[in-house]
Order: sequence, then C-alpha cells, then structure tokens
Amino acid sequence: MKLEGSCHCGAVHFSLESAHPYPFNLCYCSICRKTAGGGGFAINLGGEHDTLAVEGREHVAIYQARMVDEASGERSTSPAQRHFCRICGSALWVWDPRWPELVHPFASAIDTDLPVPPERTHLMLGSKASWVELQAGTDDKRFDAYPDESIAAWHRRLGLEDA
Ligand SMILES: [Zn+2]
Ligand SMILES: [Zn+2]
Repeated sequence: MKLEGSCHCGAVHFSLESAHPYPFNLCYCSICRKTAGGGGFAINLGGEHDTLAVEGREHVAIYQARMVDEASGERSTSPAQRHFCRICGSALWVWDPRWPELVHPFASAIDTDLPVPPERTHLMLGSKASWVELQAGTDDKRFDAYPDESIAAWHRRLGLEDA
C-alpha cells in the first residue's frame, strides 16, 4: 500500500510503500508521549525505507532521545532518529540504523486513509502517564514493555499483510 504523509504546515511531504499499514501499535512511552502523543500515546506504522521519498527535506530535523537510566543515573542517546518538521513540529517518522531497511511513519502524519485495525497492541504501559486511562478492546494485547511480536508479525498473524 502506498502511503502519503505530510506535516501540518505543508513544508514536508513524503510517501512510502508499506506492507504493514494498520495503525494498531500504540506506544505509551515517555518519548512518544512528549514528542508525538498528545493523548498519551503515539502510533507507528511499518514501511520500507528504500521507498521513502521526501519533498522539503531541508525542513526535516532529527531528534535522538536523551535518556537517563533510572537505576544507574547513566545518560545515553537513543540511536533511533525521530524525524519532525522544524517549522511546525509535526512528528513524521522514525528511522533506526539498527533496522536500516525499515521506516516507521507516525499514523498521525499520514494523509492516506488507513485501514481500521481489528485489534490493537498497547505497549510500554509501564511508562504510561497516570492520567491516561487505557481504552482497550477485548482482543487487544497489553505489554508493560515491548512485545515480542513485530509490526510485520502482527500483520501476518491476522492475515493483513499487504504483499
Ligand atoms: Zn511543517
Ligand atoms: Zn514510544
């Protein structure tokens, strides 16, 4: 499925091919919440990085999350590159050099109509803000950290891969 996306101000437009376009993966981690999740979570899709085409690339900035280990106090920087529009601040996509063939656009930046997922995965609930009440359907899966099932594996299990 071809996905088209853009930031709010229109300075950045992008497109990519995605075999995994269902917006089922709700991440409640503090990074997603602060940078992309006004409702307490952000939703990532899966796509193929070598199909990513960007117009207005000069307006795209990258944030790599700065993290502090709660136990040791040690500081680190996440290798994941969160791309956003430097003019309007819209979160656009995540690219991680550990999985260079993949790209993870935020569902919120996509203009193409996305399919409605039959069930959802709620992840990083251990980091959920206390004011966020989980809105989970009966078939939804819940994880305190990351699930073992990837975005691609979820689509395969439910027979929804757009091959
Ligand atoms: Zn913008
Ligand atoms: Zn997250």
